[in-house]
Amino acid sequence: MSRTERFDAIIVGGGLMGASAALHLRKFHGMSVAVLERGYIGAQASGVNFGHVRRQGRFLPQLPLAHRSRRLWSALPELVGHHCEFIPSGSLKLAFAEDEMDKLLAYAREAKHWGLEIEVLGADALRAEYPWLNPDVLGGTRVSEDGHANPRLVTPAFGRTAQALGAVVRESCEVLSIDHDPAGFRVQTAGGETYLAPRLLNTAGAWGNRIAAWFGEAAPLEIKGPLMAVTEPLPYFLGPALGSGNGPCYLRQVQRGNVVWGGGRWSQPQLDPPRAQADPEHLTRQFEDIVRLVPALRGAQVIRTWSGVEGYVADGIPVMGPSATTPGLFHAYGFCGHGFQLGPAVGAVAAEYLANGQSETPIEPFSITRFSETPANAGEVHEHDD
Ligand SMILES: Cc1cc2nc3c(=O)[nH]c(=O)nc-3n(C[C@H](O)[C@H](O)[C@H](O)COP(=O)(O)OP(=O)(O)OC[C@H]3O[C@@H](n4cnc5c(N)ncnc54)[C@H](O)[C@@H]3O)c2cc1C
Repeated sequence: MSRTERFDAIIVGGGLMGASAALHLRKFHGMSVAVLERGYIGAQASGVNFGHVRRQGRFLPQLPLAHRSRRLWSALPELVGHHCEFIPSGSLKLAFAEDEMDKLLAYAREAKHWGLEIEVLGADALRAEYPWLNPDVLGGTRVSEDGHANPRLVTPAFGRTAQALGAVVRESCEVLSIDHDPAGFRVQTAGGETYLAPRLLNTAGAWGNRIAAWFGEAAPLEIKGPLMAVTEPLPYFLGPALGSGNGPCYLRQVQRGNVVWGGGRWSQPQLDPPRAQADPEHLTRQFEDIVRLVPALRGAQVIRTWSGVEGYVADGIPVMGPSATTPGLFHAYGFCGHGFQLGPAVGAVAAEYLANGQSETPIEPFSITRFSETPANAGEVHEHDD
């Protein structure tokens, strides 16, 4: 039986961005909201990522948003009733060559102006603190307050809390079309339901361009699947999440002992139905990169491999901001392999825009209009986690 429901806001996509926005809309703005999710809350990129809560290396104008998110990571117990295994273990980047070290140092200098303190560690200091590192390491940089969390726990916790606060969360609810007229948005789902609202949030992740295209907008978006793996439980030794400075290759150890690793290699996922497959050949090479950082891992048994569906915008930074064509529409998608850390604050800022049309957290560089204007950052591609 078809039905029609009316809300203050509709959210298309129940990943971390959508779930956090729903929570913030209910908790701080008192708006009625429905989250429409094609599959399950947090089952796509938000639930399968590496779990790095990292600010170092980000596009500098993204740091205000990342700082806001970092504060929310510490507040998870109050916000969603669970720590979600967030551990501020530190996040470390390593250099094996002079030019890599120069880049890390240059970033550390610049980041200071954006409120991020990065410690510089020489080879001796690194060896003293982390005796398991490859002895060829030249130096590194560290943000002690960053760390990692369990992606399987985070988005469901946001979704459950949003629901407990009164958000309507519909799973297995694919949005097939959206019309807009002066009265607002009319959303049709595969189940035949109609949802009406004056405001709409596009948090459809790798599928975000489809929603934007219904409103005559798009960003240059490529779909890729970062490759990930996890070892058997090993005696706990690692501490910080760490990666190489010359390219994305990273690992972390959870408290149960498993070492999660990934980076630098991708599968080619499909959007319909969503599917991303690990590629054993790439994983073998990827493991060599990891063993170069931490030689003691050679011989560790890999117990699971996976990938995920992620949207990468051509300049390496997401689309986030009000639509340029349609009043009441806000986009937040295409997080280019680095959206997990940002997710809590993306939801907070999107909720502020939906409720008040503005936010104190600057997001102008992420506007979808940068592809119709001459972008200041043209040609530069910014760092991601995978
Ligand atoms: C393997 C991997 C490793 C990563 N590692 C890190 C990391 O360590 N640190 C970090 O910061 N970031 C990382 N990322 C990136 C991060 O996971 C993503 O940027 C972030 O989770 C994106 O969240 P999202 O809510 O935008 O998208 P998603 O989680 O993909 O959610 C979008 C949702 O929209 C739904 N949807 C799409 N179309 C429709 C429709 N028509 N109707 C209804 N629902 C729809 C989808 O089903 C999906 O659930 C990684 C990503 C991957 C894949």
